Amino acid sequence: MGEWKFSLVKSMEDPVLQVYTDDKIVIIKDKYPKSEYHYLVLPKENISGIRLLNSSHLSILKYMDTKAREFLREHYEGLVFWLGYHAVPSLQRLHLHLISDDFKSTALKTAKHWNSFTTHFFLPSSKIIKDIEDFGSVQLPEPSVCEAYLKTKLKCHKCSFKPSNMPSLKQHLNDCH
Ligand code: AMP
Repeated sequence: MGEWKFSLVKSMEDPVLQVYTDDKIVIIKDKYPKSEYHYLVLPKENISGIRLLNSSHLSILKYMDTKAREFLREHYEGLVFWLGYHAVPSLQRLHLHLISDDFKSTALKTAKHWNSFTTHFFLPSSKIIKDIEDFGSVQLPEPSVCEAYLKTKLKCHKCSFKPSNMPSLKQHLNDCH
């Protein structure tokens, strides 16, 4: 497997990126933020991703969710954040995205980036926890459905505007509240 797949594990130790750590988790800044504020919460335990989660992971999943909300309350009271996991992550080590809902960022470039956060490709942290409680595993969409999510026609997440391309979406995001 390519070394880049493990780049988050390396970033967990990077003092420039690390914003919180304790004996169980690390919170880092996303190196290529897709919104004004974008963080990742990772467990110190070597959990590869959401696919293999089971009931034994319930307590760490809840801990990550609780600590994330505490962090956001402390630093970003009043801002709206989305907390969730990509259905098909690109990098190893379980990581929970904390992303502010402005999506104003130069690193947000492609329709795939956009759809990975604004369609059901983005699985809320609360859903992941509930799936584990109810079924003992995460109920993931089929791979073909995930692919279709990423190819969804662009749509603003706050209004009914359907931009024809990314520049038009990004222009619209500057004015849509
Ligand atoms: P995912 O598609 O859920 O695996 O998301 C991986 C996230 O990690 C993306 O939001 C990237 O911008 C971010 N990222 C990629 N490489 C690094 C890195 N070396 N350090 C921190 N964040 C990274």
